[in-house]
Amino acid sequence: MAAKSETHQFKTEVKQLLNLIINSLYSNKEIFLRELISNASDAIDKLRFKAQTDESILGDDTEFKIKITRDGIKNTLSVEDNGIGMTHDEVLENIGTIAKSGTQAFLDAMEQFNQGTALTPELIGQFGVGFYSAFIVAEKVTLLTKAAGSDRAVRWESHGDGEFTISEAQKEGRGTIVTLELRKREKDEPDFTDEWTIRNIIKQHSDFVAYPIVMDVEKEEPIPEAEQLKDKDGKPIGKTTRTVVREETLNSMQAIWSKNKKDVSDKEYEEFYRHISHDWNPPLEKLHLKLEGTTEYTALLYIPSQAPLDLLNPEFKHGVHLYCKRVFIMDDCRELMPEYFRFIKGVVDAPDLNLNISREILQQDRLVRNIRRNLVKKLLELLKNMDAEKYGKFWEQFGAVLKIGVHTDSENRGKIADLLRYKTTKSDGAWKSLAQYVADMQPDQKEIYYLTGENPSALAHSPLIEQLRSKDYEVLLMTDPIDEWVVQALTEYDGKKLKSAEKGELDIEKPDEEQKGTYETLFKHIRARLEDTVKEVRPSRRLVDSVACFSGDSQDISAYMQKILKSAGQEVPENKRVLELNVTHPVMEKIQTLFEADKDDPRLDDYIRLLFDLAVIGEGGKVDDPSRFSRLVGDLMARA
Ligand code: ADP
Repeated sequence: MAAKSETHQFKTEVKQLLNLIINSLYSNKEIFLRELISNASDAIDKLRFKAQTDESILGDDTEFKIKITRDGIKNTLSVEDNGIGMTHDEVLENIGTIAKSGTQAFLDAMEQFNQGTALTPELIGQFGVGFYSAFIVAEKVTLLTKAAGSDRAVRWESHGDGEFTISEAQKEGRGTIVTLELRKREKDEPDFTDEWTIRNIIKQHSDFVAYPIVMDVEKEEPIPEAEQLKDKDGKPIGKTTRTVVREETLNSMQAIWSKNKKDVSDKEYEEFYRHISHDWNPPLEKLHLKLEGTTEYTALLYIPSQAPLDLLNPEFKHGVHLYCKRVFIMDDCRELMPEYFRFIKGVVDAPDLNLNISREILQQDRLVRNIRRNLVKKLLELLKNMDAEKYGKFWEQFGAVLKIGVHTDSENRGKIADLLRYKTTKSDGAWKSLAQYVADMQPDQKEIYYLTGENPSALAHSPLIEQLRSKDYEVLLMTDPIDEWVVQALTEYDGKKLKSAEKGELDIEKPDEEQKGTYETLFKHIRARLEDTVKEVRPSRRLVDSVACFSGDSQDISAYMQKILKSAGQEVPENKRVLELNVTHPVMEKIQTLFEADKDDPRLDDYIRLLFDLAVIGEGGKVDDPSRFSRLVGDLMARA
């Protein structure tokens, strides 16, 4: 049972976040209201979703609304909703004690960026501070809430200074009231208790919120004839109007997706995006569709301009809301978008949808499946037709997620492959499409070469691609972990095979049979010495300048894949490597001479260790005994 009143500390990250909000957000302070209204609107959405399966939770309070109350004397402002409300535990979980995923990453990014400069709403909005934005303008925030179906209310209070209290409370109906005790206003700052200030903010930021946002306003109204004072001739004496207080709806509640494109301004599109995405940056691109026929639906989808920090978190909320004839059905509708479009935000309104549909049924619903297929097609087209500059921005932010599609969506694999971009050994840091790669291939080149790994510059300088480089063949540098899955699914492009520069034989140079014979016994000897880690020693067809490198057989897992699996805590089967040695290198000749003279020469073992270590270093790895390595190199230098 909840104690009567408990004091809690904010989680450290939340504390830092609040500090940042209070002390560095100087401009656009009014956005706090949009955030609170969005939360109120979400709370009503959630209640309605729940009511689809249990209507009784609505009771007789079925008129949804969001109410703003101002008090110029007490300098307070409150936002009230009759949405789903929160229980004691939900308040504790949602506000203050647990930081949203990505908070730390956001704070770190801020610290780097924020050296002395002011925090801009765009920066902070990329993260979305939601409820905490109340502290931009309030010195104290009180949240009073009662969960639907509960008979207990909870009060949460804080000055935003490190701690908050939660106590039992009284509240009439379900829902939430957030009350702000506003800070003293600086000169030139808007008065958030002023009617017109509030009207303007709501018009600008929250006009299309689907529920009425109401506020009591004073109005001049004519006094009804019967109540007017009149002289003996029946002429009115004194005032014929009086000031009354009336509740007025401040937003138009127009669902902009159901309007015609030409009737929606860019500004409206942007504001709506902000409302549904909680992202304060303008979107990169939008897609507004109306489809008629057997699969009838309207969609308004957005591609954000920046990837949210928690995009790769498995619990990341997908951004598509599902409506039926403008009635909200659910948010986070994963059934409408494949995983690789998880970053898309927007609304889909399908008039023929069964209103009582549950998430489980949704997956099998034909209409939903058709809409999804259709939307994917349109989105892929949109991306394909984007101008190069914009597409580059998109790719930087979302390329890694889109790549999931190559692996998971066999139907659209080809189209997604067209959208892939990679840096290459020849692109000088620029992104290159596979189509362009193929167009630039050397006349005698048959395959598309790639190399996977963590670090682009280590890849570009890898000994594995020396031979390819000498033939002027381009190599794709694949540095996303997901690329390992891309190349498993995408085995060829435009009729050309994708070929790992690390695995299997590169059929570009014929092996020199005579040399192979010369070195056969030495290689056997080396293999025996390195038995634990090396499965084969081979004359290299990859190396030109370097003396040693590791490679794998075509069915082996790559070194990068092994690293990825290990860091994900997975069991990785012992994967012995192939040690390739460059028989055209003078060092090999020396070793061979030594070997022929005396198989038991102690130097031989040292050299074999060195060859192994050089291969490790060549792929950016760490030698397992650095002091031995430096001693051996030191000895060699002394002898030279
Ligand atoms: P976000 O809205 O991005 O999730 P917030 O910090 O604004 O982040 O809110 C945190 C959580 O608190 C919300 O996800 C919601 O569960 C809860 N919450 C906030 N405001 C309300 C409200 N008016 N009614 C019910 N729950 C709310």
